[in-house]
Amino acid sequence: MTHPFSWLDHSLDTLHRANWYRSVKTVESAPGPEIILQGQTLINFASNDYLGLANHPRLKQAAIQAIEAWGTGSTGSRLLSGHRALHAQLETAIADWKQTEAALVFSSGYLANLGTITALVGPKDGIFSDEYNHSSLKNGAKLSGARIFTYRHGDDEHLEQLLKEYRSEVRRCLILTDSVFSMDGDLCPLPQLITLAETWNGMLLIDEAHATGVLGETGAGCREHFKIHSDHLIQMGTLSKALGSLGGYVAGSQTLIQYLINRSATWVYTTALSPADTAAALEAIAVIQSEPQHLYNLWANIADLREQLAPLHLPLLPSESPIICLGMKTPEQVLSFSQKLQEQGIFAPAIRPPTVPTSRLRFSVMANHTQTQLAKVGQVLSQLTLEAL
Ligand SMILES: *Cc1c(COP(=O)(O)O)cnc(C)c1O
Repeated sequence: MTHPFSWLDHSLDTLHRANWYRSVKTVESAPGPEIILQGQTLINFASNDYLGLANHPRLKQAAIQAIEAWGTGSTGSRLLSGHRALHAQLETAIADWKQTEAALVFSSGYLANLGTITALVGPKDGIFSDEYNHSSLKNGAKLSGARIFTYRHGDDEHLEQLLKEYRSEVRRCLILTDSVFSMDGDLCPLPQLITLAETWNGMLLIDEAHATGVLGETGAGCREHFKIHSDHLIQMGTLSKALGSLGGYVAGSQTLIQYLINRSATWVYTTALSPADTAAALEAIAVIQSEPQHLYNLWANIADLREQLAPLHLPLLPSESPIICLGMKTPEQVLSFSQKLQEQGIFAPAIRPPTVPTSRLRFSVMANHTQTQLAKVGQVLSQLTLEAL
């Protein structure tokens, strides 16, 4: 008899052969536009810390003070012993920023999606989902037991066709989309999606993980970017990217939030966000509001990197965000490209299937990258592409 776990070795071998195998790499420095990765100093294009707040003195101070006052753990779920005034302050700050009646923080963005989707829909209902949605939206949809209708990426006409065909067969309707697509950098067609949600009596949930602190005049996200409102809209996001902390949130009507407090399993049955994480996220919103230069610098840097890349005529994927991707033909090619960049002091991760349908090199721009660091990308890529593409 074989060992019951022997299939694991076989599975890992298959991953190796497909060049899909992954492993962790240790970062040996504080977060920033330059990091030490396994002993090597690199310009960092692999961070979600878009505004450079994860190492900001005000956030660190807020987290330390919260630990001094409230300890390290929150000791229970929010409905039992875990709720603190800090949580309420953070939720009010998020709701004010997002211009919603209320907000609710979760232990992560992933859990916010799982818990919200499964609370809102079940087997009698229908989910209409963009094919490039984040894993947390896709797994939330599966877990809910709802029927899932997948529309082509960013294609609101395809979504409309699916709604025409299937909306009448399901009880509730929930449309799911990333607002900034995490592995592409493009935006969902929010105005069209809102119109469809309103026409077809649907709820629309947008995942603002890469839009929060990034898009819109005050960094409030995609809704602010498009300057629209809708009472069909649910905005979720994370505290762990541009807000430099850890956790997730859902922002929407008072009724929605009351319902989630009662019915969302990933919120009810998990420990409340820690005092340090909560205080850091709260301070991040205060920093974004009192120091607008971070958001300004981010967009100046995005424009700068685009200018560096334009003359090289690279196969860039469409993007309206700090996420800029260079399309590659195969996992081998993107791995080798990422490796060559790393030899030149640049950390831009290779993104491969099954995370995405096609391989790509992904650059995430930060507010505190310097002009010299951005210029180096242009220089190194111009040499490499002459040789390789
Ligand atoms: C990162 C991410 C999440 C998960 O957020 P965490 O707080 O890291 O769990 C959800 N959706 C998208 C689109 C993301 O990029």
